[in-house]
Amino acid sequence: MASTVVMKFGGTSVEDAQAIERVVAIVRQRLENKPVVVVSAMARVTDQLLEMARAAGEGDRKTALMLARQLRERHYNTAGELLGTALFTEFHGNLGTEFEQLEELLRGIAAVGELTPRTTDHVAAFGEILSSKLVSAALSAQQIDSTLVDSRTCLVSDDNFTRAAPLFPESNEKLCHTLLPLIDRGRVPVLGGFIAATRTGITTTIGRGGSDFSAAIIGAALGAEKIEIWTDVDGMMTTDPALCPEARRIKVISFDEAAELAYFGAKVLHPATVLPAIQKNIPVYILNSRNPSCAGTRIAARAPHCHNFFKAIAAKKRITIVDIAAPRMLLAHGFLRTIFEAFDRHRIPVDVVSTSEVSVSLTLDSNESIPALAADLAKLADVKYEGCKAIVCLVGENLREIPGIAGHVFGELSDVKIRMISQGASEINLTFVIDEGQVPQVVQRLHRAFFSQLDPETFA
Ligand code: ADP
Ligand code: ASP
Ligand code: MG
Repeated sequence: MASTVVMKFGGTSVEDAQAIERVVAIVRQRLENKPVVVVSAMARVTDQLLEMARAAGEGDRKTALMLARQLRERHYNTAGELLGTALFTEFHGNLGTEFEQLEELLRGIAAVGELTPRTTDHVAAFGEILSSKLVSAALSAQQIDSTLVDSRTCLVSDDNFTRAAPLFPESNEKLCHTLLPLIDRGRVPVLGGFIAATRTGITTTIGRGGSDFSAAIIGAALGAEKIEIWTDVDGMMTTDPALCPEARRIKVISFDEAAELAYFGAKVLHPATVLPAIQKNIPVYILNSRNPSCAGTRIAARAPHCHNFFKAIAAKKRITIVDIAAPRMLLAHGFLRTIFEAFDRHRIPVDVVSTSEVSVSLTLDSNESIPALAADLAKLADVKYEGCKAIVCLVGENLREIPGIAGHVFGELSDVKIRMISQGASEINLTFVIDEGQVPQVVQRLHRAFFSQLDPETFA
C-alpha cells in the first residue's frame, strides 16, 4: 500500500491555460500526499480528433488537416501562455513532433480511404498524449518536480480497439514498477488517461470517458489512499445541474448508487471507475477544479442511512425502444435467448426490458449498429422501432422496502405518457422511459417533489 493520492483532471479542468494554472495550484496543495496526476484531453479535443479521423477515412484530406491545424494552434497557444518564452521555445519542438506524426497518420488514412478501429485509436490517443505533455510541462515550469509517463508503457489492454479492456495483472505490475520509484523520489508522475497499449505495444483506448477508469485502475494498482476525480461541478448532484438549476450536492453516496446513476446518464463519473476502487475499498471523491475548497462528493462502499427516498435522478437521452412481437411463438422456450443472442452478436447493450405473453420491449442507445440488428431481428419476429426516447432513473437505497414508492413517483407524473417501467431488478433504482423532449420538465417536477426537503447528513 502506497500512501499516494491519484488526482484525475477531466477535459474542462485542462481546457485552457487558466484551467491548467488551477490544476497546478491544486496539485501543489496535495504535494504532501504524494499525488499521481491523470489527465483527460483538453475539452472537446477527443471529439475533434474523431472528426478528423472520419474525414480522413472518407478521403477528405483537406478537412482532416485543417482540423489538425486548429488543434495545433490551440495547444501552442496554451503552451505559450503557460510556459513563458524560454521554456516554450524548448517545448515547441516537442509538441511539433506529435503534430507531425498526427498529420502523417491522417494523410495515410486519407490515402487509403479507410478508417479502422485500430487507426481510430491511434488518432484519438493524441488528445491525452498532448494534454499530459502540457500539464507536466506546466507543473515543471512552476517548480513542481513532475515526470511525464506514457500510459502506453504501463497500462496493458487487449486489442478490442476503441473499447479495449485492461489486462489487470500485467498493468498492475507495470504501474507499480514505473510509478512507485518516482513517488518515492518525491516526483509527481503525470499520465494521460483513456489510452493504453496491447502487449505488443499497439495504441488502444479504453472507451469514451475512460480517463476516470484509468485513474481507478492506477489507484487500485498502487493501493492509493484515495482517488480524486476533478471536474467542473461541485460533485455528484441530485440531478444534472445543466438540466435543473436546483440540483444540490450529495455529500456521500454508495458505490452501487453512483454506478447506477452513471450508467443511466450522470456522466460526471464513468461507471467502470467504481469497480477497481470498490474491490480495494479505496474512497473516490468528486471535486470541482473551479471551486477546490468545496468538499465534493465521497463515494464509499456503504452510504449512511438517508431520510430522503431518493439520492438522485439521472436521465439518458438518445434511446430507441424496440418492440418485438412473436404472435406464433408466444414467447416460447428459447425465444428470449434467440433475441438476446442477436443483440450480443451486434454488441448492442440493452438497458431496460419488459415482457408480456406475446412480446418483449427493450431499450438501447440509438446508434449506427441498429440497422444491422434490425435486419437480423426481422428474420425472427415482427419488430417496431421508436427513437427519440429517454430513460429516467431514480436512485436510492432499499427502494424495494418502501411501500407505495412507485405510486408516489407516477402520481407526480399523472399527465405524462410513460412507455416502459422497470423496478426491482436492483434494490436501488426505479426506471422508466418517456419521450426525449419531456426530460427537462419531468426531471424538474420529480426534483421538486422529492428533493425540496433534504437530509443534511447526505445532502449539502
Ligand atoms: P469531465 O470533463 O471532468 O470528465 P464530464 O463532462 O464528463 O466532466 O462530467 C461533468 C458533467 O456531468 C457536469 O458538467 C454535469 O453537467 C454532468 N452531470 C450529469 N449528471 C450529473 C450529476 N448527477 N451530478 C453532477 N454532474 C452531472
Ligand atoms: N478524452 C476522452 C473522452 O473524451 C476520455 C476522457 O475524457 O475521459 O472520451
Ligand atoms: Mg468525464
